Amino acid sequence: MSEASQGKRVVVVGAGWAGLGATYHLAKQGYNVTLLEAGAYPGGLVAGWKTAAGRSVEAGIHGFWYPYKNIFSLINELGISPFTTWTRSSQYSPAGLEVESPIFQDLPRLPTPLGTFLYTQFKRLPLIDRLSALPLLYTLIDFDNSDAAWRRYDCVTARELFKDFGVSARLYRESFEAMLLVGLFAPGEQCSAAATLGMLYFFILAHQPDFDVVWCRGTVGEKIFRPWMERIEKAGARVLANRRVTDLIVDNYSQVTGVVCGDEVFDTDAVIFAVGITGMKKMISSSPSLQSREEFRNLSNLGAIDVLATRLWFDRKINIPRPSNACFGFSPTTGWTFFDLNALHDEYHDEPGTVVEADFYHANQFLPLEDEEIVSIVQRYLTSCVPAVQSAKVIDHSVIRLPQAVSHFAPGSYRFMLPAKTSFKNVFMSGDWIINRHGSWSQEKAYVTGLEAANLVISSLGEGTPANILPVEADELHIQVARAINQTVRQIGNSVLPNFWLP
Ligand SMILES: Cc1cc2nc3c(=O)[nH]c(=O)nc-3n(C[C@H](O)[C@H](O)[C@H](O)COP(=O)(O)OP(=O)(O)OC[C@H]3O[C@@H](n4cnc5c(N)ncnc54)[C@H](O)[C@@H]3O)c2cc1C
Repeated sequence: MSEASQGKRVVVVGAGWAGLGATYHLAKQGYNVTLLEAGAYPGGLVAGWKTAAGRSVEAGIHGFWYPYKNIFSLINELGISPFTTWTRSSQYSPAGLEVESPIFQDLPRLPTPLGTFLYTQFKRLPLIDRLSALPLLYTLIDFDNSDAAWRRYDCVTARELFKDFGVSARLYRESFEAMLLVGLFAPGEQCSAAATLGMLYFFILAHQPDFDVVWCRGTVGEKIFRPWMERIEKAGARVLANRRVTDLIVDNYSQVTGVVCGDEVFDTDAVIFAVGITGMKKMISSSPSLQSREEFRNLSNLGAIDVLATRLWFDRKINIPRPSNACFGFSPTTGWTFFDLNALHDEYHDEPGTVVEADFYHANQFLPLEDEEIVSIVQRYLTSCVPAVQSAKVIDHSVIRLPQAVSHFAPGSYRFMLPAKTSFKNVFMSGDWIINRHGSWSQEKAYVTGLEAANLVISSLGEGTPANILPVEADELHIQVARAINQTVRQIGNSVLPNFWLP
């Protein structure tokens, strides 16, 4: 029996970034961890696998941005080098090339957001439209990721926010909404203004280099999760695939003592949920114990968004100017990205033809189409950006439909999202939709919340050392000063004005 298996028992549910992060840390601390995953592979939304023909595919290409400090630290700990160098990106509309981004960390650093504003190369958007973003700077100061700020901004839509602050129609359509469609996976009228400000600040505005990005030189499954899983299993964790959790067993003291998975029951001292919104809703529908709690019943007010990941193999070499590209304006409520995998993935460097990944977010209307219809739309869209695609022949393709897959930060959703601690004493939440104050988003947030949940288990069960979670880089000095002044003015206002108006 290994040392780990003698420790207190923890069941982690879901093997995405959050669940793997929690499992790895707790296993290293000597806990007896069982990780239950409903799917056939670990990785969650980032899972990768091989087709019957032996080709690598995955549920969408994933970028790792400059502020993903905790993931980069994990990569160092694992001693692997899965990433490309920092890459430049382009943005296209049906009219052609719209924007080119430099590698911001290579340029002289300016106080934020000047570098983003001056160094981004807009090809068409007039200066007057870009300048109409200036009044929005106030919201950058006012939204400080606190609970109060989320409550002030969450019931407002992103579109209303930009309208109220005087953003031009063209800047909204061609820049902000374009970013929302690929950042929060939804059009502006369906995004919470709080989530919008939090996401834009983390990925783009907090510090000049934040928008710099690296990609995996293969699927994330192959390059990161495979070596990580080896370390997780070596640390003593038991990872069980094809195990869909359906219920919890709860004692009279509000402690969970078992996790039910079909006919199996896993006895436990603590539980970490690391499941997306749709998975959680499905689990609640089969679980009388979860249905008995208001906070879990309320999750039926949350939603998720359809995504489509396609990979096309072309018969010839096509010159694609930049390896990663974002696109807007092809359909009013769908954003998409495309990637030159010959440039990004080791496996395709020497491919005689071209391999392109095209991922569609808020792809509701595409999901019912046949694969062939989807492939023909993708080729048509790609041709608008890279005309040489038109004459190339698609010799193979993969189409992965991901219904209700990614978290929807809809207006008004904050009040129903869960913090890490629940009304069960020994059940903790993690995942990219959980309320925390770290300030990160997407994969980095999922991983951080996994570590935060592991730390709550450690403080509740009293064994082991908490994970060292790296904070996001501090706000720049001028932002700190402006936020302090703004908070003081708010406090004075709150102390003299009646609590009468909507926040
Ligand atoms: C196409 C696409 C592109 C994206 N691009 C990026 C990007 O470029 N950069 C970035 O940082 N992020 C990106 N994201 C978002 C990123 O994938 C997520 O933020 C992150 O993977 C979420 O991790 P998670 O651990 O919270 O949840 P998930 O990855 O959703 O993992 C949850 C796991 O729980 C399992 N599960 C569900 N129900 C049960 C049950 N009852 N029992 C047991 N297991 C269960 C699921 O099978 C799943 O494996 C993208 C997402 C998509 C879909």
